[in-house]
Amino acid sequence: MKIIRHPRELQQLCMDWESKGRRIGLVPTMGYFHEGHLSLMDDCRKRCDKLVVSLFVNPTQFGPGEDLETYPRDEERDARLAEEHGADVLFVPEPGGMYDPDHGTWIQVPEMAKGLCGASRPDHFRGVCTVVCKLFMLARPKVAVFGQKDWQQLAIIRRMVRDLNIPVEITGHPIVREADGLALSSRNVYLTEEERRNAPNIHVVLRSAAEKAKSGTTNAETLKRFIRDELAAKVPGGRPDYIEIVDPETLANVNEVRQKALIAVAIFMSRARLIDNFSIEV
Ligand code: AMP
Repeated sequence: MKIIRHPRELQQLCMDWESKGRRIGLVPTMGYFHEGHLSLMDDCRKRCDKLVVSLFVNPTQFGPGEDLETYPRDEERDARLAEEHGADVLFVPEPGGMYDPDHGTWIQVPEMAKGLCGASRPDHFRGVCTVVCKLFMLARPKVAVFGQKDWQQLAIIRRMVRDLNIPVEITGHPIVREADGLALSSRNVYLTEEERRNAPNIHVVLRSAAEKAKSGTTNAETLKRFIRDELAAKVPGGRPDYIEIVDPETLANVNEVRQKALIAVAIFMSRARLIDNFSIEV
């Protein structure tokens, strides 16, 4: 596996692969790999000839006061794991290599970025879309794999790809969880011991809300109230940022759950902000 730090070098290599008819796959990440990242790599590996994994803690998707500086990093371990999971290239650019000092072009999908995580992180998805678009230009993938854990991100990227006719197939990979149900996240290291004990209940609560919807409670307000009350009881110390029930594709709020919907939550703990979601089908 090759470690590439310069955007132009990655682009040249990928253009070369492309001209030889290689099918390139891309898995964008911010590193500090866990089983979630690794299963995205395994998934993508099966869909391509050349696997590019990017490791970039993208400054433009962090807001003021967020954890850009303290975001957990371990490049050496990440490189070893990426290689074990079939990466041909680990792309590790410097922020200054990705953004010129006068960088001024942004990709936005404002309608889908205003709710859920976008409400408390107003420029987050602008940073995500811009960096993902740049990675597409550099790595020229035919397929890219994203996790369903960041459902809003996945839905927005699908829309961006459709709207801009980007020739890449987007695959959503199911959420990888700990045995106790907690969704894996690099930020779980921020949890205190007690928070770590309670955090799996987020999944428990969402699952029981989905069961409730299936057995006839389809009013979104009723379901959200149920989730709020259950989280207060089962995840003490957790403060909901949002609890929403949305259309899985458009992310618009739904009032009544018909056929498919997505329950999505973000919960502030003392240092961590955990997101999770659960698909409802009635
Ligand atoms: P991150 O490094 O947190 O930006 O995540 C990189 C990619 O891994 C994104 O597409 C995430 O949605 C995905 N991902 C992160 N955690 C999980 C998880 N627990 N299960 C599945 N995918 C995940």
